[in-house]
Amino acid sequence: MANRARQRKGTSETETMTEYQLLHEMDFRNPEPSKSKLCQVLKVMLLVCPCLAVGVFIGWLSFRNSGGSQNCQIQPNSDQQHQHDMENTFKRIMNDLAKENIISNLRNYTGRQRLSGTDGVHELGRHIAQQWRDHGLDKVEVTPYEVLLSYPNTTDPNKVQIVLDNGTAVFTSTFVEKPLDPDGNQTDIIPPYNSFAPAGIVQGDLVYVNYGQIEDFMFLKNNLSINFTNKIVIARYGKIFRGDKVLNAQRFNASGVILYSDPADVNINGTSDTYPHSWWMPDTGVQRGTVGGDGDYLTPFYPAREYAHRLAVDKSIINIKIPCHPIGYGDAIHFLRELGGHVAPDTWKGKLNITYMIGPGFINTTRKVKLTVNNYLKVVTVENIIGIIKGKVEPDRYVLLGNHHDAWVFGAIDPLSGTAALTEITRVMGEMIKSGIRPRRTIVFCTWGGEEVGLIGSTEWVEEYMKVLYERAVAYINVDYAVDYTDYLMAGTSPLLQDPLYQAAKIIPNPDPTSPYRTLYDIWNKTNPGNGTGEPSIYYSLGSGSDMAAFYERAGVPSIDMWYSYDFKKWNIISYPLYHSAYETFHMYTAFIDPSFNYTLTMARLWGVLSWKLADEFLLSFDVRRYAKAVADVINTFKIQYGTLWNEQSVNIAALDSASSNFTLAAHNFYDYVRTLDKNDSLAVRMVNDKMIQLERTFIDPEGVPGRPIYKHVMFAPSKFDSYTGSSFPGIVDTMFEIQHNNANSWELLKQQVYVVTYTIQSAANSLDPIGL
Ligand SMILES: [Zn+2]
Repeated sequence: MANRARQRKGTSETETMTEYQLLHEMDFRNPEPSKSKLCQVLKVMLLVCPCLAVGVFIGWLSFRNSGGSQNCQIQPNSDQQHQHDMENTFKRIMNDLAKENIISNLRNYTGRQRLSGTDGVHELGRHIAQQWRDHGLDKVEVTPYEVLLSYPNTTDPNKVQIVLDNGTAVFTSTFVEKPLDPDGNQTDIIPPYNSFAPAGIVQGDLVYVNYGQIEDFMFLKNNLSINFTNKIVIARYGKIFRGDKVLNAQRFNASGVILYSDPADVNINGTSDTYPHSWWMPDTGVQRGTVGGDGDYLTPFYPAREYAHRLAVDKSIINIKIPCHPIGYGDAIHFLRELGGHVAPDTWKGKLNITYMIGPGFINTTRKVKLTVNNYLKVVTVENIIGIIKGKVEPDRYVLLGNHHDAWVFGAIDPLSGTAALTEITRVMGEMIKSGIRPRRTIVFCTWGGEEVGLIGSTEWVEEYMKVLYERAVAYINVDYAVDYTDYLMAGTSPLLQDPLYQAAKIIPNPDPTSPYRTLYDIWNKTNPGNGTGEPSIYYSLGSGSDMAAFYERAGVPSIDMWYSYDFKKWNIISYPLYHSAYETFHMYTAFIDPSFNYTLTMARLWGVLSWKLADEFLLSFDVRRYAKAVADVINTFKIQYGTLWNEQSVNIAALDSASSNFTLAAHNFYDYVRTLDKNDSLAVRMVNDKMIQLERTFIDPEGVPGRPIYKHVMFAPSKFDSYTGSSFPGIVDTMFEIQHNNANSWELLKQQVYVVTYTIQSAANSLDPIGL
């Protein structure tokens, strides 16, 4: 999977300057505010809070403002000393991470193809495990899971053909990608395919469906009266997760899907200056990728351990029912230029040198498209490597760093740029524990197997350890590929981790040493600013494009997914051009992605420092007010978008509003209480930290979002129509989509979802209260 949420827009909104924020600003400028200053601010707040409280108490739901002790205590020396030690450790992490080691890791890791379930990936996993052991981690384990995967038949290849009435094929798509650099010239490369697309042979008229989004199909059905029965559709990659394109085609009764990369999305200038001369995809390149779901199909919701009871291997358990196969634009043009029927709307036109037509069918109606898919299912082993540094004070609290090590082919960007950095972090932290420096909490290093084929290694592991992770995990920090370009940092985060992320970025040097902007934070804020926030852009809804999905969506562990990327305003494309092709080689990475390796090193520094910080700080630097604000912002958007309609239908907006106000008040009270906490009172600190960690879990609903029980995060779950991106409160958003676009009579479901969301937000407010009942 591994195309991450890619929500290239800031979702943190403008915050009005409040006393709370003033107090918060002090946190960065002066970590040890004087007793008198702090007390002054508290006095202002005590004047403000009761007024706020009165307004809220007359609402639908009550929140008991029990506050906290207001003893204005100066932070004791041991905490100051600890801060100082931690800062020294950060410096050491930054200094010790060595670019040369990252380069050598990446060269070794990309030496052969690393597809899930093959010898290539098993060899890599064992090699990484040995490195981590050599680096001195306390424990390194291989966790195998027996799972169902999907492969192409290499002796009877998949193909897309143009056939005549008599069955003669006049054009057949190519089978393999031609190697274009010495690194890629190897014999055991698995040819392009879409995993979990079922085997099948279909023949019929072709329809061009743009990106295959739900709105594209609706346009063709409603405006052009196209009937998709017995039609094969051709969709360009981009905009949404490829599996959702196939599900959309299924919803409209199409019989098969051809996916292709249009130059508009992979070679946007349309020139011949493509790889190996630039990072743009040549006409021989093909994007592989799964079209299936997340986790092992045979053991839904539970771990695929040897004692598991497995569903029978049967086509019926796979949600993808129609054949699908990917091709490059060198092949796609043969099909698209023969299409007749309707002219495509301007926004549907790609960059091939043809007139884009929709069909259905070719101009010469005796010619048809024949799609042959011979993929087969097989139970194989996928392995995760899990390395542990045991925490010295709170070993039962975990900070996890994760990335996968399976790739579609060589995986120089996706994922091994991240894996090469992760191993270097294990070396530096291994040295640290050898010299007697150990974090307060446990650090867990994870390199997942089976990610590309459905986030399988991470999902099965989260399922296996669900109970302890749910109870104990502090944060999960995902870096899938570390760098796909060097324009700016991209980060999706739980609102809780936004402040720790910013604080870490403030101590990492700018990867460009010639820039006047000193820190990573400064250059991030300059090149990728949030929309009116004064802070760097982040997005909240993490989606399900990489291994954070199970942690965040299932276990409610506050998570981050981050990488260095290209400027989306410059190139409005969903992924880097050579994504999931055989051209993601070490040569390509060093020539076009990060020749200096400064940016890969920067990602290792950010990942290492942020993880150590979360594992070692007494009091977690989470800011619960960010969550309350995120909730309030979404509810305000709902009121603007749907207010009139909701009032007409008697949707209970007042209760929703009331819960959100209660959460805001509870978050501010909690924050004020935390500011006055004696950081040497270890029980009080642990109680506060646990409340902050558990706040994310209050958004987990065991029932899941409607029709998709795998997604349990009520607020931030993937959108129903594009699982790469997340939507806020998808139970509401998806139901409103059905009502507004499909005239669905779903008002009862909508009211039920508003009620679930109201209940969840009120539960979040309760969870921050000292007693909570
Ligand atoms: Zn990936």
